[in-house]
Amino acid sequence: MHAYPHLLKPYDFGFLKLRNRMIMGAMHTRMETLHQPVARLVQFYRERARGEIGLILTGGYAPDQAGRMEDDAPVLEREHELAPHQAITQAVHEEGGRIVLQILHAGRYARHALCVGPTAERATMNSYTPRALTSDGISETVRAIANTARLAQLAGYDGVEIMGSEGYLLNQFCSPRTNTRTDSFGGNLDNRIRMPLDVVEAVRAATGRDFLLVYRLSAIDLVEGGLTGVQTARFARRLEQAGVDMLNTGIGWHESAIPTIAATVPRAAWDFAVHHIKQAVAIPVIASNRINTPDTGERLVADGVADFVSMARPLLADPDFALKVRQGRADRINTCIACNQACLDRIFTRQTATCLVNPRAGRELDFPRHQAVSRQRLAVVGGGAAGMACAVYAAERGHDVVLFEASKELGGQLNLARRIPGKGEFNETLRYFRVRLTELGVRIRLNTRVTAGELREAGYDRVVLATGVVPRKPDIDGIDHPKVALYDEVISGNREVGKRVAIIGAGGIAFDTAELLLAGPSGDPSLSSNLFRQYWGVDASLLNRGGLAAPEEVLSPRSIHIFQRSPGKWGTQLGKTTGWILKARLRRAGVNVVSGVTYHKIDDKGLTYSCDGAYRVLAVDNVIICAGQVPQDALSKELADCGISVATIGGARLASELDAVRAIQDALYCGIAAPGG
Ligand code: NAP
Ligand code: SF4
Repeated sequence: MHAYPHLLKPYDFGFLKLRNRMIMGAMHTRMETLHQPVARLVQFYRERARGEIGLILTGGYAPDQAGRMEDDAPVLEREHELAPHQAITQAVHEEGGRIVLQILHAGRYARHALCVGPTAERATMNSYTPRALTSDGISETVRAIANTARLAQLAGYDGVEIMGSEGYLLNQFCSPRTNTRTDSFGGNLDNRIRMPLDVVEAVRAATGRDFLLVYRLSAIDLVEGGLTGVQTARFARRLEQAGVDMLNTGIGWHESAIPTIAATVPRAAWDFAVHHIKQAVAIPVIASNRINTPDTGERLVADGVADFVSMARPLLADPDFALKVRQGRADRINTCIACNQACLDRIFTRQTATCLVNPRAGRELDFPRHQAVSRQRLAVVGGGAAGMACAVYAAERGHDVVLFEASKELGGQLNLARRIPGKGEFNETLRYFRVRLTELGVRIRLNTRVTAGELREAGYDRVVLATGVVPRKPDIDGIDHPKVALYDEVISGNREVGKRVAIIGAGGIAFDTAELLLAGPSGDPSLSSNLFRQYWGVDASLLNRGGLAAPEEVLSPRSIHIFQRSPGKWGTQLGKTTGWILKARLRRAGVNVVSGVTYHKIDDKGLTYSCDGAYRVLAVDNVIICAGQVPQDALSKELADCGISVATIGGARLASELDAVRAIQDALYCGIAAPGG
């Protein structure tokens, strides 16, 4: 008996068979902005199809110029644009895969002057005010979407997904929040859902019956003025009657103040909203958002919450997700940790997506798999993220690798990160590396502070230094006072911390430390769906509009003050898509952040600092130092003195702005995983 029988069960639409219940969700990568975009996209999708994912949904293509998310967003509106699509569909079909093109009209979220909406109401997150579509404009938009579906069919796609969730145009029409029209497309629910239903009808007419038509509807809007559960179910039934083959579910609008996909959201937290749709219709329903492991997916399908599970970011993290599930090698899956750091944060800052745990994502052409190399003996010194990744990449290419780690366990800074509320997914990264290192035969030497002499003696062909960082201890009077603790002592649980706390430094680690110290007796909302809903105010009964409820009152177990010397705004380096969550949590817990300070001393009275020309003494039990890091790279010079050339990666190479993204990327980019490496 297989461990995941429900996930592996094929599905037959009659005109189309899917090999399992795992779907790669739509995700825009901006790969089209890179050199050789078509070849890259072809290889990107080919690898995912080869990895046996049941169905691929492409990133969204706009049906016309007004519908583009931004000026350089992809559009499919003319036949001469088909060639790259044909190359993609051919590659996916060659690998036995199925692929559907997503059609996305951004509506009032479009960040350009052509943007349109049901009304001329601007979204708070957009500086462009939309033009209200006339009824002719609506008809033209419906025709444009149907035309894109027809082109998708010509290009060889197996179907289309109509994007009608997350607050994009069709979702905007459904909600009285954004649709206050007084014509036949506004007013009561039947009028508001008229345009989406017209779209479905027009797409069906343009493509015929044997073409997969997926509609992604908003299962819970999470905004004021959103739909109730009863209304959403009614809309789902109308979509089914109009000829939709499968319903995908979206969670929340982009302007929602509740996190929907970040790591602070428990796995499968939105199952109740998906199940609500599933109960309303007979066609298959896809669950999405925070499904990153086969166990979670299997449960959702086995329990009848959904028929399929959609995973977008997890397929960036591991193109072989479904293959590993089928082969009974689920423990080898490189799990998406929902950090958004290398994917969505980059997309929203107009960069190209890749993945923190898999920097090959989107760079498959630059780092081809299975390249034969002449086997070398390699020493990797340091078993943190950079060292573990480097050892894996080198061993995958056939090198003979020894990994040295001075402490008693692998993981380095990841062992700290995984203790922070909402960052428990780092445990999966540690599991992945441990399993892969063992499987690849990397010899691991724990509790071993290897010396330059020993490395020279052993005669390695190459040495990679990944010795990481140590916390910076700033030069402040009283820095050795017993009240003072370094962040690593606090996060690792080796230091007791009192109720009144000052944190020196206001970078990512300072906020992480504050999160840890604020974790109250009620527990971490990222670990329990009930706690999460209470904390953020989500109505699981779906009786309230938008699925909103009053958030619970937050009782903070500590009084925390965070300081930075720089003047102005705090938290500017936090992730674009997750920083707001952290800031909201700290504000609710009453954390006080003070910018533009000068530190004077730490003594029995607490922390003395000045700000705006005034001296202040803050009485605290502890002062926690989160003032960045310095490289731990002494071995580098010793090795150079011994005449051994080394590649230095991660924090040992550059401590400033070090995060796990750069650590693992350094490991990939240091030459070992490149052709000839
Ligand atoms: P960081 O982001 O560089 O912040 C260091 C902080 O220490 C700054 O606020 C800086 O502020 C202060 N500082 C630097 N030198 C100081 C000195 N000599 N005396 C007193 N204060 C000093 O470093 P980090 O917080 O250690 O984070 C390390 C990396 O991990 C960063 O790249 C960060 O982005 C990443 N990370 C991100 C997250 C997240 O996004 N949630 C979480 C954890 C880590 P002033 O110079 O203004 O005083
Ligand atoms: Fe997942 Fe983070 Fe990778 Fe994005 S960068 S795919 S969230 S692990």
